[in-house]
Amino acid sequence: MASSRKFFVGGNWKMNGNSESIAEIVKNLNKAEKDFTRTEVVVAPPAIYLKQVVQDLNGKVAVSAQNCYKVSKGAFTGEISAEMIKDVGAKWVILGHSERRHVFGEKDELIGEKVGHSLSAGIGVIACVGELLSERENGTTNDVVCRQIKVISENVADWSKVVIAYEPVWAIGTGKTATPEQAQEVHQMIRGFFKENVSSEVALSVRIIYGGSVNAKNCCELAAKPDVDGFLVGGASLKPEFISIINSRN
Ligand code: PEP
Repeated sequence: MASSRKFFVGGNWKMNGNSESIAEIVKNLNKAEKDFTRTEVVVAPPAIYLKQVVQDLNGKVAVSAQNCYKVSKGAFTGEISAEMIKDVGAKWVILGHSERRHVFGEKDELIGEKVGHSLSAGIGVIACVGELLSERENGTTNDVVCRQIKVISENVADWSKVVIAYEPVWAIGTGKTATPEQAQEVHQMIRGFFKENVSSEVALSVRIIYGGSVNAKNCCELAAKPDVDGFLVGGASLKPEFISIINSRN
């Protein structure tokens, strides 16, 4: 039975692009958006381009920041707040991305605080979790993912504004995708965690999307898995193939 959860595809542009190339991507999204009937689409440009992208998109594709800090304002040089993201018209923020965790050293507790603050400020959260290759190899994938999800869930009251992105770190930007079976196994485990620790309603309704080297070739097989409710896409979201990924469930 097909799930009633609306398919969700996010494009994480990371620290890529400039005014010109971003205008070109937006132009292509605007041309294609009439096809996005069954999928919620969100793109995450670098913070400095958030306003440009919000203004230039036709309206069906929402905009997300790639990160933010845990308070509204103050002496935090280089940071942006959820309130600022909302102020420029963006609706979402990606938190806990593996590059934030492993390049910038963000810990579970900080990510949890950011999730709580962003939701209270009125923006949606794409909360990322995922294991390192060494953790998969030593059999601790489920422990790591549950630990990360637990801290996130302690900071959420309203799950309707949260999307969970399962992104195995070994699959991000490496060209090495989890098999559809590997993705399904972890997604199902996460849904089980919600059933046991939050509620059956949340377990049924929360969208769990997969990220890690998703492209136009591998997206349909992944999208066919019952607990894969969409994708968080890095590299391929900068290319025309992003449209095929958006339509992989249609
Ligand atoms: C990401 O940045 O979240 C990601 C999944 O990147 P890529 O698709 O390039 O692996």
